[in-house]
Parts: sequence; C-alpha cells; structure tokens
Amino acid sequence: MSDPMCPLCRTPKAPFYHQDRRRIYHQCSVCHLVFVAPAYLPTAQNEQAEYQLHENHAHDAGYRQFLIRAAAPFVHGLSTLQRGWTLAVGLPRCSPAY
Ligand SMILES: [Zn+2]
Repeated sequence: MSDPMCPLCRTPKAPFYHQDRRRIYHQCSVCHLVFVAPAYLPTAQNEQAEYQLHENHAHDAGYRQFLIRAAAPFVHGLSTLQRGWTLAVGLPRCSPAY
C-alpha cells in the first residue's frame, strides 16, 4: 500500500505514523495531521448505517456528551470573548455544564 495524500492540505505521500489493532494511521509531514489510511475508512453505506443508530437531539444525553467531547478542545483554546460568542450560538442548549 502506498503512502496516501493528506486529506487536509493535499501534500502527497504522508508517511506511516501508527498501527493499532484495527487500522493504520499516517501523519502529514507538512500540517502534521494524523489520519486513518483511506483503505480503513468506512464505506458510505456503513457510515449511513452508523449515523442511523443514534439520536441527534438536544434531549439525548449521549448526544450532548458527544458534543461536549467534540467541542471541549476548541472551547478551551478560545479567548473569553470568543468563548462567550460560541456559547451564545448553541452550546448552552446542548450542555448544562456551560
Ligand atoms: Zn497535511
């Protein structure tokens, strides 16, 4: 298998980075993005099937936890002003922790 192109900056031939029990990862030598080798990405059908398994609703605790986990690194890196703006746009409805 040849080294894949970085999906973020399109630099060709991102070298091997890591292999776990399920997948092989590469890291871009330019932007340092670590990504799963394309051969291990889900098919569109598998992705749709997984999407259908969960409820994306503000009253679903699992969905709120997912959003908190996904947003936390970004919120942590924001200034106070940016954080207030971000929270005003939607996180308060999804996260009682904020
Ligand atoms: Zn890159």
